[in-house]
Amino acid sequence: MPKKENIQQMFDGIAPSYDRLNHIMSLGVDKLWRKRAVKEIIGTDSGLGDRRRSALKVLDVACGTGDSTIDIAKAGGSGISVIGADISSGMMSLVMEKAARAGVTDRIRLKVADGTALPFEDGSFDVVTCSFGIRNFEDKAAGLREFFRVLKPGGRLVILELSVPSKPWLRKLYDIYFMHVMPLIGGMISGDKAAYKYLPASVHAFPAAPVFTGMVSAAGFRDARFQALTFGLCTMYVATRP
Ligand code: SAM
Repeated sequence: MPKKENIQQMFDGIAPSYDRLNHIMSLGVDKLWRKRAVKEIIGTDSGLGDRRRSALKVLDVACGTGDSTIDIAKAGGSGISVIGADISSGMMSLVMEKAARAGVTDRIRLKVADGTALPFEDGSFDVVTCSFGIRNFEDKAAGLREFFRVLKPGGRLVILELSVPSKPWLRKLYDIYFMHVMPLIGGMISGDKAAYKYLPASVHAFPAAPVFTGMVSAAGFRDARFQALTFGLCTMYVATRP
């Protein structure tokens, strides 16, 4: 696992081409995954009562260029407050311009922060979410403990992470695409082939869904569960702070 400083430098470097590449390389499917997560955060199946949902305080850890942050802010209505936190100020420098286009700047605040040492008080948020970020943490268990600490009792954790599909035929296609095509396209567009080699390697190195769900429970959460999305290309984890 690369050091936090190297990860930060890598994301600062690829920030200008991140959104374009993200949507090209996921063929736009990431938008559906984010929508699914937003439903868990804001929807009636979020487990949070109506009053709490209308004035939700959400922390989006490893918010990057803010796609999920903005989706949540849009879906949450005028009462919502979303804090986006990330170690890469380069990635976050793109959030507010996008938020302005979506008309939600007043609902979003940003903070440069490490997900494993969050600069927030205990019990500050109704929801903590993290999309495609935690696999980059050097210490994932420390990240989960921080998510737990900053959540209010009864608060929700919603994590999206890329995963390796289990079906053998899809696994073959996946390996060709992620190991060979992605570093080529990513390298050409971003100018950093190594970053787009790191991406599939980090997905392979991430714990299997049942193992990661166990880590979520070990951090103190209850009702931890996971759901495979799009043939297991992405996995959503949901849990509640008791
Ligand atoms: N959440 C965004 C999205 O859905 O597009 C960005 C995902 S991007 C693949 C991963 C993000 O994790 C990067 O912006 C990176 O800077 C951030 N990151 C990596 N390690 C981190 C850490 N320890 N604390 C906070 N953010 C981190």
